Amino acid sequence: MARYLVTGGAGYVGSHTVLALRDRGDEVVVLDDLSKGHAAALPAGVALVRGRCGDPAALDAAFAQGPFEAVLHFAALSLVGDSMREPMRYLRENLGNTAAVAEAAAKAGCRKFVLSSTAALFGFPDRVPIDEEAALAPASAYGESKLFCERALAWAEQVHGLRFATLRYFNAAGADPQGRAGEDHEPETHLVPLAIDAALGLRGQLTVFGTDYPTPDGTCIRDYVHVSDLADAHLRVLPLLDQRSVRYNLGNGTGYSVREVIETVGRIAGRPVPHGLGPRREGDPAALVASSAKLRAETGWTPRFPALEDIVRTALDWRQAHPQGYRGRAAG
Ligand code: UDP
Repeated sequence: MARYLVTGGAGYVGSHTVLALRDRGDEVVVLDDLSKGHAAALPAGVALVRGRCGDPAALDAAFAQGPFEAVLHFAALSLVGDSMREPMRYLRENLGNTAAVAEAAAKAGCRKFVLSSTAALFGFPDRVPIDEEAALAPASAYGESKLFCERALAWAEQVHGLRFATLRYFNAAGADPQGRAGEDHEPETHLVPLAIDAALGLRGQLTVFGTDYPTPDGTCIRDYVHVSDLADAHLRVLPLLDQRSVRYNLGNGTGYSVREVIETVGRIAGRPVPHGLGPRREGDPAALVASSAKLRAETGWTPRFPALEDIVRTALDWRQAHPQGYRGRAAG
């Protein structure tokens, strides 16, 4: 059993990772300002320090609850579209917060750090699947901000001896198979929850962003990976940090088009997804599919829910149980 600090632990990927840590008996302290996350997403027995990662007092309060075996840093601004409206805010916040948390970790004697990174590092890749050797060429301020974070950690390693793992997530989707947590963003911008809500009549029709991509059905292809599999990857990289820092691309390795997702959601929900066809969304590459061969080989990670059907099923189950998301649910 060990004790971990999880920033952004009340958010989507963070809360599923908190569950994974608790399930194996670890102790967890969460630092989250609840600007996007939900206290109700945290399981019983988790201490919440409510505050911002860039606030020295909040960091002091969080690290006072250590010592921590590692810090898992999820808290970040993460919307590509927003980042193109407010690029300096994204660069400032994401880099500044990562640097502040890494510095506080080093000061507290904690020398292991896991960063949520992103496929957006690769911009418009010239080939898929995308492995760790692919060119780093972000096409958005969000992607650039995470590249800055990765680079900041290399300096923290060189100067402070902080070992780090960066996990470049492809498209996180799905919900805890036991129904304890799910996806609840405000605003919701992601395809799977929007398609589910459209099928359930909880929102209006979905718009397909672009039908003229150079893909078999003209819509974008993405690599959807179950959020609990993402969480598991965080646990599996931790032991490596005794030896070295690592960078991994994290996805299923299978791509599905927007039309395939719509068809699958309709089939699993038993109701078609009402949808219309619209123009491309700015900044969307045609296809993003991960090669996670390196992660698999070096950590033994294998997705437990590689099938799109299972990803959609868990997301649908959670949404049907929580049509208003976390609103109205008590914490813990
Ligand atoms: N998408 C769409 N309609 C929507 C939301 C998303 O057609 O209302 C498409 C989007 O263009 C992309 C895919 O679905 O090709 C996944 O988008 P999402 O925002 O879920 O994740 P991203 O790939 O941006 O991380």
